[in-house]
Order: sequence, then structure tokens, then C-alpha cells
Amino acid sequence: SPEVKLAVFGRAGVGKSALVVRFLTRRFIWEYDPTLESTYRHQANIDDEVVTMEILDTAGQEDIQQKEGHMRWGDGFVIVYDITDRGSFEEVAPLRSFLEEVKKPKNVPLVLVGNKSDLDHVRQVGTEEGERLAAEMACAFYECSACANEGGSVAEAFHELCREVRRR
Ligand code: GDP
Ligand code: MG
Repeated sequence: SPEVKLAVFGRAGVGKSALVVRFLTRRFIWEYDPTLESTYRHQANIDDEVVTMEILDTAGQEDIQQKEGHMRWGDGFVIVYDITDRGSFEEVAPLRSFLEEVKKPKNVPLVLVGNKSDLDHVRQVGTEEGERLAAEMACAFYECSACANEGGSVAEAFHELCREVRRR
């Protein structure tokens, strides 16, 4: 069966590990060692095809060489920001530029995820801002909550990224 390598990027604390664990176990864990970098294997049936995913949960505090290595390794990328942390949103565009630079001349499959949508009362980034940025990056956009996961949008984001990788 086809195999796709997916890497999850974003500032430390945005919920990368919580999203990956939610996707893999359908559970939420409150505290996950922020310095840990892990890879997981996961199989899913996507559009009647069994796809094997290798998922790299980056720590979000690697140096530039490590980051570049992760980017070379991956076929597709989840870029995560935290809707309650504007700084994490502002890191998305530069991250994406670096990714394009590393993958040049390939077109990079990615999805943009605004996490922690359960914390709407302390939101710093509007949904429309996320949508606009995703449109600029020509990628799919999901507001998610690793902890509430309403509507299963966490899995939807990963599955859509797999589709995007398979289309290229
Ligand atoms: P990472 O550094 O990007 O891997 O972030 P973590 O997955 O370790 O999460 C950082 C913190 O945010 C932890 O305290 C999590 O419990 C919390 N967190 C992660 N996702 C969510 C979410 O969707 N909603 C809320 N309220 N907290 C979250
Ligand atoms: Mg983490």
C-alpha cells in the first residue's frame, strides 16, 4: 500500500503532539513532553485505499539544520498555529517560505491548522484570517481542537493532507 511521510510543524506549545495523539488514539492528553520528537506509523482507509502514514511530530524548537532535515524527509506538512497565540500565526508564513525554499522546485502539499478552537473566549486570530492565509498558500484550512475535536476535523485534516500528497 502507498506510504506517505507527514511532518507536523509549528511553534512549541501550539498543540502538535496533542493533535497527533488525538488523531492516532482519539484521546486527548493534557501534558506531553514538549522536547520530545516522535514518529508514528498509522494506517487508514482513505477513499477506499489503505494508506500507511509515517507521522513526524516535531518538537518545534529545532535548529535550522534539523528543521531542514525534517522538511526534506516529509512528503506533506501540517502547519499548526494556536488561535489564542498571534505569534504562532505570524510564524506560519516564514515557515512556509522556508519549506518552499527547501523543497524547490517541488510544489509542497500542506494543510493549515488553527488549533485550540475550544478556547474561543481568548482567541487572538480570527477564523477569516486563517482562511485568508490558507488561500494565499493555496492549501486547505481547518480550525480544530485537539481536546474537543468537534466534527472530527483533526482526522479530516490529516486525511486531506494524504489525499493532497497522493494527487501530486
Ligand atoms: P506542542 O509543543 O506543539 O507539541 O504542544 P502540546 O501538544 O504539547 O500542547 C501544548 C499545551 O497546549 C498543552 O498544555 C496541551 O494540553 C494544550 N493543548 C493542546 N491542544 C489543545 C487544544 O486543542 N485545546 C486546549 N484548550 N489546549 C490544548
Ligand atoms: Mg510536542
